[in-house]
Amino acid sequence: MEKKKTINQKAFEIGGKIINPGSTQTVSVALSMLPNHAAFDLDMRVIHGLKPGKRLFICATIHGDELNGIEIIRRVLASSLTKHIHGTLIAIPIVNLFGMLLHSRYLPDRRDLNRSFPGSEAGSSAAQLANTFLTEVVAKCTHGIDLHTGSNNRLNLPQIRCGFEHDETLRLALSFGAPVILKSKIREGSLREAAENLGIPTLTFEGGEALRFNEFAVRAGVAGILRVMSTLKMIPAGKCSAAKGSPVISPSSRWLRSPMTGVLRSACWLGDKVLKGDVIAKISDPLGTTTTDVVALFDGIVIGRTQNPLVYKGDALFNIAWVSDPTRAQATIEAFEEEEFEEDQFNLFTETPLP
Ligand SMILES: [Zn+2]
Repeated sequence: MEKKKTINQKAFEIGGKIINPGSTQTVSVALSMLPNHAAFDLDMRVIHGLKPGKRLFICATIHGDELNGIEIIRRVLASSLTKHIHGTLIAIPIVNLFGMLLHSRYLPDRRDLNRSFPGSEAGSSAAQLANTFLTEVVAKCTHGIDLHTGSNNRLNLPQIRCGFEHDETLRLALSFGAPVILKSKIREGSLREAAENLGIPTLTFEGGEALRFNEFAVRAGVAGILRVMSTLKMIPAGKCSAAKGSPVISPSSRWLRSPMTGVLRSACWLGDKVLKGDVIAKISDPLGTTTTDVVALFDGIVIGRTQNPLVYKGDALFNIAWVSDPTRAQATIEAFEEEEFEEDQFNLFTETPLP
Protein backbone atom coordinates (compact mmCIF):
# COMPACT_ATOMS: atom_id res chain seq x y z
CA MET A 1 0.00 0.00 0.00
CA GLU A 2 1.27 3.42 -0.90
CA LYS A 3 2.22 5.49 2.10
CA LYS A 4 0.53 8.84 2.50
CA LYS A 5 3.06 11.60 1.92
CA THR A 6 3.67 13.86 4.88
CA ILE A 7 4.50 17.41 3.95
CA ASN A 8 6.54 19.03 6.66
CA GLN A 9 6.05 22.61 7.57
CA LYS A 10 9.11 24.80 7.18
CA ALA A 11 10.15 27.59 9.54
CA PHE A 12 8.72 31.00 8.63
CA GLU A 13 10.84 34.11 8.51
CA ILE A 14 9.37 37.54 9.14
CA GLY A 15 10.82 40.77 10.47
CA GLY A 16 14.21 39.12 10.83
CA LYS A 17 12.81 36.42 13.15
CA ILE A 18 12.52 32.73 12.50
CA ILE A 19 9.21 31.23 13.63
CA ASN A 20 9.38 27.48 14.04
CA PRO A 21 6.43 25.26 13.11
CA GLY A 22 3.93 24.97 15.94
CA SER A 23 4.97 28.18 17.63
CA THR A 24 3.63 31.68 18.18
CA GLN A 25 5.73 34.80 18.49
CA THR A 26 5.34 38.55 18.75
CA VAL A 27 7.43 40.22 16.07
CA SER A 28 8.32 43.91 15.97
CA VAL A 29 9.49 45.50 12.75
CA ALA A 30 11.27 48.81 13.32
CA LEU A 31 9.61 51.53 11.27
CA SER A 32 10.58 54.91 12.55
CA MET A 33 10.56 56.80 15.82
CA LEU A 34 8.40 59.34 17.54
CA PRO A 35 9.81 62.88 17.98
CA ASN A 36 11.03 61.97 21.48
CA HIS A 37 12.94 59.08 19.89
CA ALA A 38 10.63 56.42 21.35
CA ALA A 39 10.51 53.47 18.98
CA PHE A 40 7.72 53.31 16.40
CA ASP A 41 7.45 49.64 15.52
CA LEU A 42 5.01 47.55 13.57
CA ASP A 43 3.99 44.90 16.12
CA MET A 44 2.41 41.66 15.03
CA ARG A 45 1.50 38.27 16.43
CA VAL A 46 2.55 35.39 14.22
CA ILE A 47 0.99 31.95 14.65
CA HIS A 48 2.89 29.41 12.57
CA GLY A 49 1.09 26.08 12.46
CA LEU A 50 2.68 22.66 12.66
CA LYS A 51 1.23 21.80 9.27
CA PRO A 52 1.58 23.79 6.04
CA GLY A 53 -1.30 25.80 4.65
CA LYS A 54 -2.38 29.25 3.61
CA ARG A 55 -0.76 32.35 5.03
CA LEU A 56 -3.35 34.94 6.07
CA PHE A 57 -2.73 38.49 7.29
CA ILE A 58 -5.40 40.34 9.25
CA CYS A 59 -4.75 44.01 9.91
CA ALA A 60 -6.49 47.00 11.47
CA THR A 61 -6.00 50.70 12.10
CA ILE A 62 -4.61 51.54 8.67
CA HIS A 63 -6.76 54.57 9.33
CA GLY A 64 -5.48 55.55 12.76
CA ASP A 65 -8.86 56.35 14.35
CA GLU A 66 -10.60 53.13 13.22
CA LEU A 67 -10.18 51.07 16.38
CA ASN A 68 -12.85 48.38 16.05
CA GLY A 69 -10.43 46.02 14.29
CA ILE A 70 -8.08 46.05 17.29
CA GLU A 71 -10.76 44.32 19.36
CA ILE A 72 -11.66 41.99 16.47
CA ILE A 73 -8.04 40.86 16.21
CA ARG A 74 -7.70 40.48 20.00
CA ARG A 75 -10.71 38.14 20.06
CA VAL A 76 -9.48 36.14 17.06
CA LEU A 77 -6.14 35.62 18.82
CA ALA A 78 -7.97 34.67 22.05
CA SER A 79 -10.05 32.03 20.27
CA SER A 80 -9.15 28.42 20.94
CA LEU A 81 -9.61 27.85 17.19
CA THR A 82 -6.46 29.80 16.35
CA LYS A 83 -4.23 27.92 18.78
CA HIS A 84 -3.52 25.05 16.40
CA ILE A 85 -3.82 26.08 12.79
CA HIS A 86 -2.65 24.86 9.42
CA GLY A 87 -0.54 27.49 7.73
CA THR A 88 0.29 30.87 9.19
CA LEU A 89 -1.73 33.72 10.67
CA ILE A 90 -0.15 37.17 10.90
CA ALA A 91 -2.21 39.58 12.99
CA ILE A 92 -1.38 43.30 13.02
CA PRO A 93 -3.85 45.25 15.19
CA ILE A 94 -2.22 48.66 14.70
CA VAL A 95 -0.68 49.54 11.35
CA ASN A 96 -0.87 53.34 11.59
CA LEU A 97 0.40 53.96 15.11
CA PHE A 98 1.01 57.66 14.41
CA GLY A 99 -2.64 58.19 13.50
CA MET A 100 -3.88 56.09 16.42
CA LEU A 101 -1.93 58.17 18.95
CA LEU A 102 -3.33 61.36 17.44
CA HIS A 103 -6.90 59.94 17.13
CA SER A 104 -6.56 60.72 13.45
CA ARG A 105 -7.31 58.85 10.25
CA TYR A 106 -4.09 60.19 8.73
CA LEU A 107 -0.37 60.25 9.30
CA PRO A 108 1.32 63.34 10.75
CA ASP A 109 2.09 64.50 7.19
CA ARG A 110 -1.71 64.47 6.60
CA ARG A 111 -1.44 61.63 4.11
CA ASP A 112 -3.93 58.79 3.98
CA LEU A 113 -2.04 55.50 4.35
CA ASN A 114 -4.73 53.70 2.36
CA ARG A 115 -3.95 55.95 -0.64
CA SER A 116 -0.17 55.56 -0.27
CA PHE A 117 0.42 51.98 -1.40
CA PRO A 118 2.69 50.50 -2.71
CA GLY A 119 4.82 53.26 -1.21
CA SER A 120 8.59 53.54 -1.36
CA GLU A 121 11.61 53.42 0.92
CA ALA A 122 12.56 57.01 0.19
CA GLY A 123 9.09 58.61 0.15
CA SER A 124 6.97 60.37 2.76
CA SER A 125 6.36 58.71 6.13
CA ALA A 126 3.11 57.27 4.67
CA ALA A 127 5.00 55.89 1.65
CA GLN A 128 7.66 54.33 3.88
CA LEU A 129 5.08 52.71 6.15
CA ALA A 130 3.12 51.40 3.14
CA ASN A 131 6.29 50.00 1.60
CA THR A 132 7.41 48.25 4.80
CA PHE A 133 3.96 46.79 5.45
CA LEU A 134 3.68 45.55 1.88
CA THR A 135 7.12 43.95 1.69
CA GLU A 136 7.43 42.66 5.28
CA VAL A 137 3.89 41.35 5.73
CA VAL A 138 1.57 41.33 2.72
CA ALA A 139 4.05 39.90 0.20
CA LYS A 140 4.66 36.92 2.52
CA CYS A 141 0.97 35.96 2.56
CA THR A 142 -1.45 34.19 0.27
CA HIS A 143 -4.61 36.02 1.48
CA GLY A 144 -5.54 39.08 3.51
CA ILE A 145 -8.32 40.80 5.44
CA ASP A 146 -8.14 44.55 6.11
CA LEU A 147 -10.43 45.84 8.89
CA HIS A 148 -11.99 49.31 8.74
CA THR A 149 -14.85 51.37 10.21
CA GLY A 150 -16.78 54.39 9.02
CA SER A 151 -14.82 57.64 9.14
CA ASN A 152 -15.44 60.04 12.03
CA ASN A 153 -19.12 60.49 12.89
CA ARG A 154 -20.15 57.90 10.34
CA LEU A 155 -21.46 54.48 11.41
CA ASN A 156 -21.26 51.55 9.02
CA LEU A 157 -23.27 48.33 8.98
CA PRO A 158 -20.87 45.33 8.97
CA GLN A 159 -20.07 44.76 5.31
CA ILE A 160 -17.47 43.31 2.99
CA ARG A 161 -16.25 45.46 0.13
CA CYS A 162 -14.64 43.75 -2.80
CA GLY A 163 -14.52 43.53 -6.56
CA PHE A 164 -16.55 40.73 -8.11
CA GLU A 165 -14.08 39.94 -10.90
CA HIS A 166 -11.81 37.51 -9.01
CA ASP A 167 -13.33 34.15 -8.12
CA GLU A 168 -11.14 33.59 -5.06
CA THR A 169 -11.93 37.03 -3.59
CA LEU A 170 -15.64 36.47 -4.12
CA ARG A 171 -15.42 32.99 -2.56
CA LEU A 172 -13.80 34.47 0.54
CA ALA A 173 -16.31 37.34 0.63
CA LEU A 174 -19.22 34.88 0.59
CA SER A 175 -17.62 32.67 3.23
CA PHE A 176 -16.99 35.66 5.55
CA GLY A 177 -20.74 35.83 6.10
CA ALA A 178 -21.12 39.59 6.72
CA PRO A 179 -24.71 40.84 6.36
CA VAL A 180 -23.82 42.79 3.20
CA ILE A 181 -21.33 42.41 0.36
CA LEU A 182 -20.89 45.65 -1.54
CA LYS A 183 -19.21 45.68 -4.91
CA SER A 184 -16.62 48.39 -4.77
CA LYS A 185 -14.04 49.64 -7.18
CA ILE A 186 -10.45 49.31 -6.11
CA ARG A 187 -9.15 52.68 -4.92
CA GLU A 188 -5.86 53.83 -6.30
CA GLY A 189 -3.13 53.58 -3.69
CA SER A 190 -5.14 51.30 -1.40
CA LEU A 191 -3.77 48.24 0.37
CA ARG A 192 -6.36 46.17 -1.50
CA GLU A 193 -5.02 47.37 -4.85
CA ALA A 194 -1.39 46.72 -3.90
CA ALA A 195 -2.19 43.25 -2.51
CA GLU A 196 -4.29 42.26 -5.53
CA ASN A 197 -1.45 43.44 -7.83
CA LEU A 198 0.72 40.90 -6.03
CA GLY A 199 -1.94 38.24 -6.66
CA ILE A 200 -3.04 38.18 -3.00
CA PRO A 201 -6.85 38.17 -2.67
CA THR A 202 -7.72 40.69 0.04
CA LEU A 203 -11.07 41.55 1.61
CA THR A 204 -11.95 44.91 3.12
CA PHE A 205 -14.29 44.65 6.10
CA GLU A 206 -16.15 47.79 7.20
CA GLY A 207 -18.18 48.00 10.37
CA GLY A 208 -18.82 50.43 13.21
CA GLU A 209 -17.43 53.94 13.50
CA ALA A 210 -14.17 55.71 14.25
CA LEU A 211 -12.95 55.95 17.87
CA ARG A 212 -15.66 53.57 19.12
CA PHE A 213 -16.12 49.85 19.56
CA ASN A 214 -19.31 48.53 17.99
CA GLU A 215 -20.32 45.13 19.35
CA PHE A 216 -22.28 43.99 16.28
CA ALA A 217 -19.37 44.88 14.00
CA VAL A 218 -16.84 43.26 16.34
CA ARG A 219 -18.82 40.02 16.47
CA ALA A 220 -19.41 40.01 12.71
CA GLY A 221 -15.68 40.62 12.15
CA VAL A 222 -14.50 37.87 14.49
CA ALA A 223 -16.97 35.30 13.12
CA GLY A 224 -16.13 36.30 9.54
CA ILE A 225 -12.36 35.91 9.97
CA LEU A 226 -12.82 32.47 11.57
CA ARG A 227 -15.14 31.42 8.73
CA VAL A 228 -12.60 32.56 6.13
CA MET A 229 -9.88 30.61 7.97
CA SER A 230 -12.13 27.59 7.86
CA THR A 231 -12.72 28.06 4.11
CA LEU A 232 -8.95 28.31 3.64
CA LYS A 233 -8.62 25.05 5.63
CA MET A 234 -6.52 26.79 8.28
CA ILE A 235 -8.92 25.64 10.99
CA PRO A 236 -11.07 22.49 10.85
CA ALA A 237 -14.36 22.69 8.96
CA GLY A 238 -17.46 22.74 11.13
CA LYS A 239 -15.74 24.19 14.19
CA CYS A 240 -16.97 27.76 13.74
CA SER A 241 -20.57 28.73 13.19
CA ALA A 242 -21.59 28.89 9.54
CA ALA A 243 -23.44 32.01 8.42
CA LYS A 244 -27.07 30.93 8.47
CA GLY A 245 -28.26 33.05 5.56
CA SER A 246 -26.91 34.41 2.31
CA PRO A 247 -25.60 37.96 2.54
CA VAL A 248 -27.30 40.83 0.79
CA ILE A 249 -25.26 41.56 -2.33
CA SER A 250 -25.30 45.08 -3.72
CA PRO A 251 -23.64 46.30 -6.91
CA SER A 252 -23.33 49.91 -5.74
CA SER A 253 -24.12 52.46 -3.07
CA ARG A 254 -24.53 56.23 -2.95
CA TRP A 255 -24.56 58.78 -0.16
CA LEU A 256 -27.77 60.77 0.20
CA ARG A 257 -26.68 64.34 0.92
CA SER A 258 -28.26 66.98 3.07
CA PRO A 259 -30.62 69.36 1.24
CA MET A 260 -30.23 72.01 3.93
CA THR A 261 -28.06 73.17 6.84
CA GLY A 262 -29.59 72.53 10.26
CA VAL A 263 -30.34 69.89 12.88
CA LEU A 264 -31.03 66.37 11.61
CA ARG A 265 -33.52 63.94 13.12
CA SER A 266 -34.23 60.50 11.78
CA ALA A 267 -35.56 57.14 12.83
CA CYS A 268 -33.88 55.49 9.87
CA TRP A 269 -31.31 53.02 11.15
CA LEU A 270 -28.65 50.78 9.66
CA GLY A 271 -30.18 47.90 7.72
CA ASP A 272 -33.49 49.69 7.21
CA LYS A 273 -35.07 49.56 3.79
CA VAL A 274 -35.85 52.82 2.03
CA LEU A 275 -38.05 53.28 -0.99
CA LYS A 276 -37.77 56.02 -3.59
CA GLY A 277 -39.78 59.01 -2.35
CA ASP A 278 -39.75 57.99 1.34
CA VAL A 279 -39.10 60.80 3.82
CA ILE A 280 -36.33 59.24 5.89
CA ALA A 281 -35.26 62.27 7.94
CA LYS A 282 -36.08 65.88 8.62
CA ILE A 283 -33.80 68.87 9.07
CA SER A 284 -34.93 71.93 11.02
CA ASP A 285 -33.48 75.12 12.38
CA PRO A 286 -33.01 74.95 16.19
CA LEU A 287 -36.29 76.81 16.88
CA GLY A 288 -38.23 74.48 14.61
CA THR A 289 -39.63 77.23 12.40
CA THR A 290 -38.26 75.80 9.14
CA THR A 291 -38.17 72.11 8.26
CA THR A 292 -36.97 70.30 5.13
CA ASP A 293 -37.58 66.65 4.29
CA VAL A 294 -34.76 64.28 3.38
CA VAL A 295 -36.17 62.09 0.62
CA ALA A 296 -34.79 58.77 -0.64
CA LEU A 297 -33.82 58.94 -4.31
CA PHE A 298 -33.92 55.19 -5.02
CA ASP A 299 -34.87 51.88 -3.41
CA GLY A 300 -32.26 50.30 -1.19
CA ILE A 301 -31.02 49.65 2.32
CA VAL A 302 -29.08 51.91 4.67
CA ILE A 303 -25.52 50.63 5.12
CA GLY A 304 -23.99 53.77 6.63
CA ARG A 305 -25.20 56.96 8.30
CA THR A 306 -23.97 60.10 9.94
CA GLN A 307 -24.03 60.14 13.74
CA ASN A 308 -23.77 63.92 13.96
CA PRO A 309 -27.13 65.74 14.09
CA LEU A 310 -25.55 69.05 13.06
CA VAL A 311 -25.39 69.04 9.28
CA TYR A 312 -24.48 71.41 6.49
CA LYS A 313 -26.10 71.43 3.09
CA GLY A 314 -24.32 68.81 1.01
CA ASP A 315 -23.11 66.70 3.95
CA ALA A 316 -23.31 62.92 3.49
CA LEU A 317 -26.26 61.66 5.59
CA PHE A 318 -27.15 58.08 4.61
CA ASN A 319 -25.19 55.60 2.53
CA ILE A 320 -27.82 53.65 0.62
CA ALA A 321 -26.96 50.40 -1.13
CA TRP A 322 -29.01 49.56 -4.15
CA VAL A 323 -30.78 46.18 -3.84
CA SER A 324 -33.44 44.58 -6.00
CA ASP A 325 -35.67 43.59 -3.08
CA PRO A 326 -35.31 46.00 -0.11
CA THR A 327 -37.91 44.20 2.04
CA ARG A 328 -36.07 40.90 1.77
CA ALA A 329 -32.72 42.61 2.29
CA GLN A 330 -33.94 44.24 5.51
CA ALA A 331 -35.22 40.89 6.83
CA THR A 332 -31.90 39.23 5.96
CA ILE A 333 -29.90 41.88 7.82
CA GLU A 334 -32.19 41.62 10.87
CA ALA A 335 -31.65 37.85 10.88
CA PHE A 336 -27.87 38.31 10.72
CA GLU A 337 -27.93 40.68 13.68
CA GLU A 338 -30.13 38.37 15.75
CA GLU A 339 -27.83 35.49 14.96
CA GLU A 340 -24.70 37.38 16.08
CA PHE A 341 -26.34 38.09 19.43
CA GLU A 342 -28.18 34.77 19.72
CA GLU A 343 -25.80 33.25 22.18
CA ASP A 344 -23.26 35.19 24.12
CA GLN A 345 -20.26 33.89 22.26
CA PHE A 346 -17.74 35.93 24.14
CA ASN A 347 -17.84 37.18 27.68
CA LEU A 348 -15.81 40.38 27.91
CA PHE A 349 -15.25 40.04 31.62
CA THR A 350 -14.42 36.39 32.11
CA GLU A 351 -12.47 36.25 28.85
CA THR A 352 -14.29 33.04 27.95
CA PRO A 353 -12.66 32.11 24.68
CA LEU A 354 -14.56 31.67 21.47
CA PRO A 355 -15.01 28.08 20.35
ZN1 LIG B 1 -10.76 53.04 6.91
